[in-house]
Amino acid sequence: MSSPSRTLISLWIICVMLIQCLLVIPGCSGDSRGNPLFTDPTRQAERDRMVDEQIIPRGIKDPTVLAAMRRIPRHKFVPALYSPFAYDDGPLPIGYGQTISQPFIVALMTEALALQDAKKVLEVGTGSGYQAAVLAEIVPHVFTIEIVEPLATEAAKTLAELGYRNISRRVGDGYQGWPEEAPFDAIIVTAAPDHVPQPLLDQLAVGGRLILPVGKVFQELALYRRTANGYERTVLTLVRFVPLIRKDQSAQPGER
Ligand code: SAH
Repeated sequence: MSSPSRTLISLWIICVMLIQCLLVIPGCSGDSRGNPLFTDPTRQAERDRMVDEQIIPRGIKDPTVLAAMRRIPRHKFVPALYSPFAYDDGPLPIGYGQTISQPFIVALMTEALALQDAKKVLEVGTGSGYQAAVLAEIVPHVFTIEIVEPLATEAAKTLAELGYRNISRRVGDGYQGWPEEAPFDAIIVTAAPDHVPQPLLDQLAVGGRLILPVGKVFQELALYRRTANGYERTVLTLVRFVPLIRKDQSAQPGER
């Protein structure tokens, strides 16, 4: 073989290898890339509409959040009965009196966590697993806690089917956080306590952010940022979440 054609073939092989690397490296989501569950064109059009009509016009700009929500098959996270409505502008029931949050609220909370340099994120309230998947598309490692065991099992099945390998999960009361894995760069709570859980504030890294709904019927969506000397608190909006369930109120000292 002449040496110019050898050079061409070598160049071709290098190009193919580079393209493969580009396809694999950007995601942190195990083997979800190339998974046909992500590529149904009809549902992709619905997802693009969801992002273009519900999320961008309401001010969400973070490209990592928009990309994750364009990509994740949200219809896989809801009961089959609700699959046709998976990209609608609202929450949906997921069983056991719980709901998957409205897409815009997922986007708002995720963007507010400013995850650019985050490595470890904790979620309290796995529910369907959708929010955990959004986080897992953006950061290297997600830890998620769910108190209702059958929901945790169902979410684990969905996340495994979609190929997410960077999500660790636990069944239990997320009020206590996950002390063995702390500190976290960000913490998101997707059920509403009536006060801010002190263990979650304690498990935040300096510079890290905690977002959660706080209150009874309607809640303030509060964002805490841990500084070297304490915490800065801002309120983003009013929201309505399911209440945070407590296993054994009497066994939780030090609440505030
Ligand atoms: N993030 C979810 C939505 C969750 S709805 C999603 O993307 O689908 C709130 C979830 O919080 C419910 O599944 C509920 O069972 C769970 N939850 C309520 N109290 C909890 C607690 N103390 N610890 C962990 N999970 C809790």
